[in-house]
Amino acid sequence: MIDEKQISELVRSVLSEMNFSSETKQENTQEHKQLGVFDTMEEALEACGKAYALFRNYNKEQRENIIREIRKLTHKEAEILGKLGVEDTKMGNAYHKMLKHHLVADKTPGTEDLTTTAWSGDRGLTLVEMAPYGIIGAITPSTNPSETIICNSIGMLAAGNAVIFNPHPNAKIVSRYAVDLVNRAVLAAGGPENIVCTVKNPTMETSNKMVNSPLVKMLVATGGPGVVKMLLSSGKKAIGAGAGNPPVVVDDTADIKKAAKDIIDGCTFDNNLPCIAEKEVFVLRNVADELIHYMIKSGSYLIDSEQVKQLEEVVLVDVPPKNPGDKPKKAINKDWVGRDAKKILAQIGIDAKDDIRCIICETEFSHPFVQIELMMPILPIVRVDNFDEAVEMAVKAEHGNRHTAHLHSKNVDHMTKYAKAICTTIFVKNAPSYAGIGFNSEGYTTFTIAGPTGEGITSAKSFTRQRRCVLVDSLSII
Ligand code: NAD
Repeated sequence: MIDEKQISELVRSVLSEMNFSSETKQENTQEHKQLGVFDTMEEALEACGKAYALFRNYNKEQRENIIREIRKLTHKEAEILGKLGVEDTKMGNAYHKMLKHHLVADKTPGTEDLTTTAWSGDRGLTLVEMAPYGIIGAITPSTNPSETIICNSIGMLAAGNAVIFNPHPNAKIVSRYAVDLVNRAVLAAGGPENIVCTVKNPTMETSNKMVNSPLVKMLVATGGPGVVKMLLSSGKKAIGAGAGNPPVVVDDTADIKKAAKDIIDGCTFDNNLPCIAEKEVFVLRNVADELIHYMIKSGSYLIDSEQVKQLEEVVLVDVPPKNPGDKPKKAINKDWVGRDAKKILAQIGIDAKDDIRCIICETEFSHPFVQIELMMPILPIVRVDNFDEAVEMAVKAEHGNRHTAHLHSKNVDHMTKYAKAICTTIFVKNAPSYAGIGFNSEGYTTFTIAGPTGEGITSAKSFTRQRRCVLVDSLSII
């Protein structure tokens, strides 16, 4: 017989042995192989399938322990992720990317997001519970690559799923790092290996394999219109988080100085990469000069109409018409997405000061800078005669994406009117755009904003199936 003291010593020695081996494993991981990263999609699917078979039996508490580790490790490595994100994609701002990772770690909901609905009465008890889908296939963008992978992982694992990621090829290094980070956290919390997987070199082909695999029960697309359309036509349950072109309206009741700073803060966050960031401004004529004045004070460089033409040559490319007779179209030159304002200005011969973070210009409504989602710190401003005209233009410029819109106003009737007309998933008033995802504001965060399919600000519950459990003539105890 062994006594309690001996049992405690035995447990302590086993635990310390386990810690030792997990640390050793972690070191090996850093030096040799990234966890959850496979050469082929077939291998990734197989490994994820095995992991899910184990993970299916994890209860909420065990899943929450895993989420806690992911949060901890994301905080710890946020700076690395920020720098690696810029190095890998050549886009954005490392400091802002670091802040985005802290936001994900702090404000992405975990298992507490899952709720049960119950009916009890004369005929017994009926429950509806939020159950996992199984293996989710997720496509992630180049603009918030590791932020989206970690945010999706928290929500999807909290809901009890496993995940295969097919990240953007231009962000594969930082995406692999994020998948490895999640797996390291899962292992540290005693979870199964490969519950989150990816491929070393993601392509359209690996994406197709993932989408069409019978193992994958749900699909989540975070990206532009092409990928959302592709996933929504897959025949599987799919969540589509697509493109935006968020308009800002400024009326003459707004605190113009604050509005100018808020708009520039939001527009330049991570060099305008976030899909929620301010992309064009409609301002009432009687406050336009004041707004522009304070935008300049907030780190903007105002270019004239000649310079706008020069800038068009740099940041836009011609898209040849598909059919004879079609008008030629413009699209963004991807080389300049998410680049610093100063570097973009240098392309048109302007040597701006180091504190310049945004390029502003006055344009017509029809100008491509207004109509195209640039994702660069370039902000076109259109003067309007009245609020109704501003709303009408904002609705058109949003192109029915139902994504995000912004307003600077103290008039609640204007708030209501604009909100009803534009019908976006996110509507921010009197703050920088990032308030819409819980940064310096109330509410939780996400980096997968599902406008087209309506889940909105996704969280663990978005990645669940509703299952009903019925017991008749029992367990109603009244
Ligand atoms: P993107 O659409 O170029 O790429 C997204 C992913 O989809 C990549 O992995 C890409 O390889 C893949 N892809 C693209 N077309 C595909 C197709 N036809 N079939 C299969 N896979 C395809 O997006 P991006 O440039 O990385 O990101 C920017 C876009 O994403 C912007 O339009 C932005 O507004 C949007 N976005 C939306 C959200 C949101 O939550 N709604 C979040 C981030 C980015």
